[in-house]
Amino acid sequence: MPIHEKSLIRKEDLRRQEHLVLEGVDVSGDWSTFIGARVLTDYNERLQDEIAALPGGENIHRCWQCGSCTNACTVNAINPDFNPRYWIYLIRLGMEQELLRDKEIIWQCVSCHKCTYACPRDVVPEGVMKATAQWLELKGHVPTNPSMAFDEEFSAQVFATGRIEEGRLLRRFFRRTGQPLAQPWLVAIVRGLVARLPVGLLARLGLAALVHPRTPRWGRVRRVVHDYVETQNTRRRAALGLGPASKETAP
Ligand code: SF4
Ligand code: SF4
Repeated sequence: MPIHEKSLIRKEDLRRQEHLVLEGVDVSGDWSTFIGARVLTDYNERLQDEIAALPGGENIHRCWQCGSCTNACTVNAINPDFNPRYWIYLIRLGMEQELLRDKEIIWQCVSCHKCTYACPRDVVPEGVMKATAQWLELKGHVPTNPSMAFDEEFSAQVFATGRIEEGRLLRRFFRRTGQPLAQPWLVAIVRGLVARLPVGLLARLGLAALVHPRTPRWGRVRRVVHDYVETQNTRRRAALGLGPASKETAP
């Protein structure tokens, strides 16, 4: 049977003799290439349940491994190591250590949702990628990635005021991720806005940046949203066998 995804064979698992002659027949190189046998003893039998407990991972059990997601994937077209079908396969089998070998690239999903439209089983692979990235972070396998840091800053501002003030959000995100505020693309956008927007609107935006106004009667809604998010976070952390979130990570 042909091997369609040769990239999945780790180099260290290949056994190859560069100079081998058996009974007078030269079987060097490709003719003597084998894949080393492996014994897996590190299953996490709860891995699929843990991913399914996170937002986006709910339908992972439906996957029938057709590969349409990987075939359609934007990132896979650039980097063949980015392989949603394979990671879903590993998760469903509980092969945690194998999954961790790709922990540095799983977060790179760009949420284009081409996989979502290609999937015949409504797995929503994009959601599974997001759930897996969150799982890696919650389990302490990777630090908070920039995308998650942005989401957390965005959510924190909505929880606090019921609205978004873009300038403040960007300042906090750049500070948190160690990036300079004066990015060329941002300077170009600000210059364009200043040149095009009416003076009255610019004044209102400037005032909002100073006083951080709240949505009227936000306090009551805020408590409800906070309780809901806290309940969800506690439930998810419990599903992953983790304790309550620290004060810094709670919304
Ligand atoms: S949403 Fe992510 S996994 Fe799906 S096709 Fe786009 S990059 Fe690939
Ligand atoms: S397209 Fe859907 S069913 Fe097919 S491998 Fe991807 S997630 Fe599984």
